[in-house]
Amino acid sequence: MPDDDATPMTTLDEALAGLPDYDPDHMTVELARAIIARTARPVSAVEQIAVRSALGRVLGRDVISALDVPAFDNAAMDGYAFAGSALATGGDVRLRVAGRSFAGHPFQRAAAPGECVRIMTGALLPAGCDTVIPQEQVQREGDTEIVTFAANAVSPGRHVRHIGEDLAAGQTALHAGKRLRPAALGLLASLGIGEVPVRRRIRVAFFSTGDELRSVGESLAPGNLYDSNRYTLFGMLQRLGAEVLDLGVVRDDPQAIEDTLRTACRDADAVITSGGVSVGEADFTREMMTRLGNVVFWKMAMRPGRPFAFGELEADGHRALLFGLPGNPAAVMASFYHLVRDGLFALMGAEPQVTPSLPVPTTTAIAKRPGRTEFLRGILAADAQGCWRVTVADAQGAGILRTMSEANCFVTLGTARGDVAAGELVDVIAFDGLV
Ligand code: AMP
Ligand code: MG
Repeated sequence: MPDDDATPMTTLDEALAGLPDYDPDHMTVELARAIIARTARPVSAVEQIAVRSALGRVLGRDVISALDVPAFDNAAMDGYAFAGSALATGGDVRLRVAGRSFAGHPFQRAAAPGECVRIMTGALLPAGCDTVIPQEQVQREGDTEIVTFAANAVSPGRHVRHIGEDLAAGQTALHAGKRLRPAALGLLASLGIGEVPVRRRIRVAFFSTGDELRSVGESLAPGNLYDSNRYTLFGMLQRLGAEVLDLGVVRDDPQAIEDTLRTACRDADAVITSGGVSVGEADFTREMMTRLGNVVFWKMAMRPGRPFAFGELEADGHRALLFGLPGNPAAVMASFYHLVRDGLFALMGAEPQVTPSLPVPTTTAIAKRPGRTEFLRGILAADAQGCWRVTVADAQGAGILRTMSEANCFVTLGTARGDVAAGELVDVIAFDGLV
């Protein structure tokens, strides 16, 4: 897809140059992610859209507040506003209630010495006042307009929210690269902003490879199976807010794959394939992919998801990133989340998205060989005492989608880790977040 970006691009070769630990036959997850993030060049086009249409989009420029928030000094409590200088005498303070300042209905003049103003939370602090005494702390003399309270019940300046204390005019309210969540929509509205500049959506094309694959709606002959990767990829990409381009199932034929890659490269910012990168198939795929661009084939020190290809394609003057995923359905999902996702965020122009990884005790022992990172499907649940524990799913095979669907988290066991005993802490990334 054409891109008008003028920023210099780190090419794959530049990203790989001088990496001391680079071993394509034993790629660590960390190094692969770093290379991918450095190679992905953000799309540059920015469009102005309505705030409500911008949910999940990436802010294209900083948003500077034109307003002070709050816009005026106001009460932080329900009570009485007065001049803090009245406290200087000590003892009891006695003030006359001169009027009221309620939300949207400010007191219309300045309070004079010896006066206070009945005020509600959020209401404008009248001129001549700088302090609020909460209503629980005053005595009102009968139904007169006189209130009294002890001078030491409050200090000067208390219970007031000051103009601009949340956000001052001229300050950056939201930074470019921010993915807009509900709070950001509200923040924009609070600044009176109705439209925002966002980066254009990225376009991601994908297809499956395999002579055995059939699409939903077709009938299965012996040895056939339904293609599920185009569905998980559709779902995962949709959640990122990418535009998706489903190019279907492509036969295990280098020419057919090459033609499809060319089409994909013309129409998309990134191309995701599944299948055809494992040891037996990698040779013809490699030969074909190197004709189209610069692609590296990695044997990831990771499970599931060992074979993986990454590179830059070029066709008819258009460039696209290529992610060649393994064929096995659970490996596709693990590779997408742990290798591809960050690269797509970089392409979207988003700041790095932090996915909290939290230590949780495992209910069972886990057999683990050091030397590779394992992403296990797990089920997080609170025990009877309310402590969170994780149980790894019963079947971890790279082809088993059932447990991927039952799981609610990944358990990450890093390269150095060996066997894990029941009760040990393991790092857990929850699938679901609140917002
Ligand atoms: P491959 O990497 O092409 O050797 O595929 C590895 C395994 O994943 C094989 O058992 C394939 O049948 C299976 N597979 C590949 N692509 C898909 C797909 N799109 N949907 C479901 N299974 C697949
Ligand atoms: Mg295959």
